[in-house]
Amino acid sequence: MTKPTLGNPQNTIEVLQKYKFNFQKKFGQNFLIDTHVLDKIIQSAEITKDDMVLEIGPGIGTMTQYLAEAAGKVIAVEIDKNLIPILQDTLQAYENVDVINEDVLKLDLAKIVEEENGGRPIKVVANLPYYITTPIIMGLFENHVPLKSITVMVQKEVADRMQTGPGNKDYGALSLAVQYYAEPYIVANVPPNCFMPRPKVGSAVIRLTRHDEPPVEVKDEKLMFDIIRASFNQRRKTLANGLKNAGKWNLPKEVIEEAIETLGKGASVRGEALSLEEFAKLSNVIYTHLN
Ligand code: SAM
Repeated sequence: MTKPTLGNPQNTIEVLQKYKFNFQKKFGQNFLIDTHVLDKIIQSAEITKDDMVLEIGPGIGTMTQYLAEAAGKVIAVEIDKNLIPILQDTLQAYENVDVINEDVLKLDLAKIVEEENGGRPIKVVANLPYYITTPIIMGLFENHVPLKSITVMVQKEVADRMQTGPGNKDYGALSLAVQYYAEPYIVANVPPNCFMPRPKVGSAVIRLTRHDEPPVEVKDEKLMFDIIRASFNQRRKTLANGLKNAGKWNLPKEVIEEAIETLGKGASVRGEALSLEEFAKLSNVIYTHLN
């Protein structure tokens, strides 16, 4: 067995100097330089040799080395072509890693899982590029990429948003979407000094364990998420006005108000007070009016 070498800052600096690598801000490049954090991520993702892991943004291959040790197979998708020769070097001892030089948002990941893992669910593990956290996570869920869990480093504030419920200032469309598909759990908070260069924000590792079945019954998922988005787009408005102003469904205000009243809430309730169950119920009532 080869031992991961890149977790400590000295080795990372050596690799960066050897290749005269320049960090690209536009790609959200903050490389991990803390072995404890790396161990924690691998441990909380519960990776075994039976697992295929998708890593988004391997950077110079630091976490990839740890993943290759633990998993059966690793597919690492990196957008920055300048990192590819570095990855060839740092990952040369590992035969179970494939590096794909692509923008992860442009890849058909469900197809890759079908081809590389016979469609069996994979685990996603990454220190994400923060500028595209939401599209990456929502893309994985909405495109029905077969997966067991997503264990990722994200901006602390975004981790909080994913985990929180009604009545909290961070509660919003992302909380509801994540909780519809998965069970979120914040594994650890991670300070800026664990990265090179240091990010300006705090970070957290969050694990999202995919539900076998969604926790609520929804007649039309798209309709529910449209309703959720409409009600949070106009946070200051009542839910009834938010839905009316969205102008999407062409329903009379009385019908919208009646639908809200079936939740046992007054018509002046705001969207941020509704739980996932209540959004599901509301969308099912609106669905029957539309069909
Ligand atoms: N995994 C490495 C580590 O922990 O040291 C690097 C993490 S760094 C926060 C994010 C990585 O994602 C960078 O290597 C960056 O180039 C890559 N990246 C940014 N946008 C990407 C995209 N759209 N598709 C694939 N990789 C991307």
